[in-house]
Formats: sequence, C-alpha cells, structure tokens
Amino acid sequence: MSSIKLALFGHPVSHSPSPSVHQAFAAQFRLAVEYRLIEASPEDFPESLETFRAEGGSGCNITLPLKHLACELADQRTPRAKLAAAANTLWWTADGACHADNTDGAGLVRDLQDNLGVNIEGKKVLLLGAGGAAAGVLGALLACRPSQVVIANRTVEKARSLARRHLSLGEVLGIALDDLHRCGPVDLVIEATSMGRTGGHPDIPPSAFVGAELCYSLNYGAAAQPMYQLSRLAKAPFHGGLGMLVEQAALSFEIWTGHKPDTAPVLAEMAQATV
Ligand code: NAP
Repeated sequence: MSSIKLALFGHPVSHSPSPSVHQAFAAQFRLAVEYRLIEASPEDFPESLETFRAEGGSGCNITLPLKHLACELADQRTPRAKLAAAANTLWWTADGACHADNTDGAGLVRDLQDNLGVNIEGKKVLLLGAGGAAAGVLGALLACRPSQVVIANRTVEKARSLARRHLSLGEVLGIALDDLHRCGPVDLVIEATSMGRTGGHPDIPPSAFVGAELCYSLNYGAAAQPMYQLSRLAKAPFHGGLGMLVEQAALSFEIWTGHKPDTAPVLAEMAQATV
C-alpha cells in the first residue's frame, strides 16, 4: 500500500510536533502516512510546493511565515480561508486544483470550548497579534458571539485592517500594542504573537489581566513559557496552545483522508511529552 504523502511547510519547522500528531492519527485508522517537515522561505515556497506535489504530495500544512502566501497561491479557498486571507491547510483535487482552508480558528474554539470548558459567548476578548495565526482564529472567535474582540498588535495598521475585514461578524476593534492600557479589563486573553519563540512576550499592563478567567497562548512548550510567567505574576489562569495544535491538525487530517481522529488520547500523549 502506498503511503499518503503529507508535509508541513514553514520556517522554522524543525522542532514541530506535527509529524508525531499525524502519525498518531494515522495509527487510529491503520493508514500509512508520510509526514515531512519542509523548510521554505517565502521565496522558495512556490517551487518547493510544486516539487512536493510532483512527487506525489496529497496535502500539506502551512505555518509562519507562509500562511498568507499559501492562501494567495491556491486556486480555490474555503470561506474561512478567504476571510482570514491565510491558509494552514492545502490539498489538491483530481483536476489538479489546489485548495486552501484554515482550520486554526475551529481548532482554537474546540480546545477552548470542548477541552477547557471556556464559554466565549458574551465575553470580552483581547487578541494579541495580527499575523497569520490571529487572522486565522478571529472569524471563529467572532462566530462564538463574544461581546467584543480587541486586537492589539505592534503594527497597528495590521490590527485595524484585520478588524475592518471582520466588522460584519461582530464587535471588533484594532489598536496598537502600546495602547493596551486603553483596553481595560477583559475576560479572555488570547496571545497569538511569535514573541515566545525568542523568549519574549507582549508588554501587557496588569490591569488587562484583572478578572481574566484565562490567558491562552497559541504557543506551546518553551515558546509559551514567557506568557505563562507573565500570567502567573498577574495571577491569571494560563493555558498553552497544544490542544489547539492537535485540534487544528485533526481537522486538516479529516480534509485529507476523510477520517475523523479521536484527539483526546493524542493530546494526552503530547501533553506528557511536552511538559
Ligand atoms: P506571524 O504571521 O509571523 O505573526 C507574528 C505576530 O507576532 C505579529 O502580530 C507580529 O507583530 C507579532 N510580533 C512578532 N515579534 C514581535 C515583537 N518583537 N514585538 C511585538 N510583536 C511581535 O506568525 P503567526 O503565523 O501569526 O504565528 C504566531 C504564533 O502562533 C507562532 O509562534 C506560532 O507557532 C503560533 N501558532 C500556534 C498554533 C497552534 O496550533 N497552537 C497555530 C498557529 C500559530 P507585527 O505584525 O507588528 O510584526
């Protein structure tokens, strides 16, 4: 039996747990899956993707900094990929067309609501960051009917433009990270920056954490540590993004194979390995 050829494209990808997650899913259905990690810069990506496809690749995940580009390169986009203008999942159909979806938002909401029991409806949410990941989760967050989502980003124009694109879906505002003191208390803090990868975290005034029921970082493992430490200082409960990683992966896996994996045992195993 020939294996299903999958991959993760991005930079850097060498430490990604995605191959283990997808192998664990494949084992649930006795499928033979080959899941590679492919380093690619935005310049290399189009050619690298073509080569992967020519070598029998049937689908792939995309991570930073390629999510916007992946969405642009696809022939067809799902509504949620279009809204995010960012894709984390690509696949090809028999006619050769490349399709793009974004499972990040649904993955985050599943982790928050189903795994952690956090209700988003009616809550004020602070979303830190306006890159590919923040763009991918905003639509799904707004679909849960929070009272407001405030997007705070270093480059304010990116936060504003992301907010503008989602205005028809709910109450959403883009501000500069430096203006966070204007945001006031929130119910949920969702950190979607890449700062943890270099040991940093956004500068959040303690007032933003007062009364927050959860600070959730999309980062996990070592990259989640700076935000974890900051939440501890502010006495806010914290959770890292491993559950989102597993949930968004399960949705991609289902797109590629038609099989819906059981995420609970995979998440439990990953959590043990990541502590
Ligand atoms: P990205 O598109 O490169 O965006 C990076 C974001 O971080 C931007 O908002 C950027 O602000 C901000 N940032 C970076 N350095 C900063 C600094 N020194 N000061 C202030 N802000 C800074 O990356 P992404 O795709 O959104 O990914 C963000 C993180 O989420 C990554 O670490 C990724 O691993 C994680 N993630 C996790 C999951 C999961 O399943 N758990 C899924 C997706 C992503 P500017 O716009 O001002 O540059």
